[in-house]
Amino acid sequence: MIKRRKTRQITVGDVKIGNGAPISVQSMTKTDTRDIVKTVVQIKDLERAGCEIVRVAVKDADAAKAIAGIKPKINIPLVADIHFDYRLALLAIQSGADKIRINPGNMTHRNEVEAVAQAAKARHIPIRIGLNSGSVIKQHKKSVADAMVSSAMEYIRLFEKMKFRDIVVSLKASDVQATVEAYRRIAKKRDYPLHLGVTAAGLADFGRIKSAVAFGALLLEGIGDTLRVSLTGDPILEVLAAKQILRAAGLVTGGVEVISCPTCGRCQVDLVKIVEELSEKISKVTSHPFARAGKPQVKIAVMGCEVNGPGEARDADIGIAAGKNSGMLFKNGKPIKKIAEKDFVKVLLEEIKKL
Ligand code: SF4
Repeated sequence: MIKRRKTRQITVGDVKIGNGAPISVQSMTKTDTRDIVKTVVQIKDLERAGCEIVRVAVKDADAAKAIAGIKPKINIPLVADIHFDYRLALLAIQSGADKIRINPGNMTHRNEVEAVAQAAKARHIPIRIGLNSGSVIKQHKKSVADAMVSSAMEYIRLFEKMKFRDIVVSLKASDVQATVEAYRRIAKKRDYPLHLGVTAAGLADFGRIKSAVAFGALLLEGIGDTLRVSLTGDPILEVLAAKQILRAAGLVTGGVEVISCPTCGRCQVDLVKIVEELSEKISKVTSHPFARAGKPQVKIAVMGCEVNGPGEARDADIGIAAGKNSGMLFKNGKPIKKIAEKDFVKVLLEEIKKL
């Protein structure tokens, strides 16, 4: 069991972050925020994929004002991503943003930060102090983790002087070890919830592995209250990767987990095709009935032969240990019946429905 770090709790729209709340999945749109239609379409796609909080880039006043047009058309909280110009944060707050992200690396004037904090306080919305290694390393000759932690702490103290504690903090480096180190250190210093991220992680293949290594290390230590996997590519992949990381860490309580062997020369069924078809049918979208929202997690084992098959199939809620063009169905640890290879997916889906 993972003992999660005790934190304060903040609320973004209707999503709670920290103090034992489920770890929420975030993503960011890649459209021009000023294009309300395209941005809403992308946010709806993200919602369907299971995104719980979405962030939009606010690069000018028109983008800040567009938030007022986007908000009524979406169902998840919206975060305005602000850099350089504090006035854009004020406009975004006026337009109805549910949270503001500001970057201590490029918004340094105290009076400007105070103006943003006051406006956020008046509207009861939280602020993310969101550092990226790219914004801070130029200003310090320390290690990346040191530079990020000291920069974050300067900002945090400023907010605390203003008695503004509706804060979530992120310290994203593009280097995994620096990211993990920075989060570990800030977690010891303050009890604000932490938004995990590895910045500029790259294309989906390697980027999600980098994120999984960093998030895995932190989540297993109980650190992390919300997260975003940053990928060069379709934001839907960010959401799917984030959900898979949470599931792999054992931090998702519902849904269906498919366990399958890598196959080898002993396998006498087309296991890859079977598992691909099964997984696609089970987990394509969270609203799918097999996603089992709110119900206990179900483990399904699909194993290629009798070497490890019966053991894994018995340990799972439902399992198949394959033989030659057929397999033994196990349910709650007991062998039930022999089934033909062509019926594996159909039978497993029927059994999942019964649970
Ligand atoms: S379960 Fe059987 S088929 Fe699958 S990898 Fe192990 S030995 Fe090979």
